[in-house]
Amino acid sequence: MGRSNVGKSSLINMLTGVQIARVSKTPGRTRVLNLFRVENRWVLGDFPGYGFARVSKKERDDWRDLVKSYLTAENFQYAVHIVDARHPGLEADLQLQEWLQAGGIPSVIVLNKADKLNQKERADADRKARTAFSRQPLLFASSTTKEGKRELEKTLQNLTQEKKGAALRSKPHTPSNN
Ligand code: GDP
Repeated sequence: MGRSNVGKSSLINMLTGVQIARVSKTPGRTRVLNLFRVENRWVLGDFPGYGFARVSKKERDDWRDLVKSYLTAENFQYAVHIVDARHPGLEADLQLQEWLQAGGIPSVIVLNKADKLNQKERADADRKARTAFSRQPLLFASSTTKEGKRELEKTLQNLTQEKKGAALRSKPHTPSNN
């Protein structure tokens, strides 16, 4: 999950090693939820992006409703929240975290496009992200340099293993629309 153009499809392609998700040249183009079955064990969802200024209020509301409907789905176990490493802590990203936390969905923050940062910018981004997302594990990634691939793979592997055979999880109710 993440804002439009943050690199969701590119990271899915990096992780799976196959060009399965469509990388868009036009920001805000992916407006459907694509689900990919991986190794017949788990399903990866490429959520439509949010935070793109040119979308209508109706589209924003549709996005919120889609996310909130997933918060209560039994098999929505974990969110990989992709954030632009150059802009950690944007309002739309904080809002998504609020919904995820209210829905009891654990998440990891992936600071993507890390290749665009120099050393100082990276240290600043790290500090800002730790303040904005103090409760989530953080990792830097780049589908251009493949940074973060192993770490993200490990995180997802641990997770899918933990969940293997786990009883259905009970979740709190969806948070109210705000
Ligand atoms: P999505 O809308 O979140 O699915 O983003 P896409 O995967 O379609 O990527 C949007 C644009 O960002 C494309 O032009 C990608 O080539 C570019 N992009 C994605 N990931 C990275 C990255 O890690 N580094 C750089 N420099 N560009 C990236």
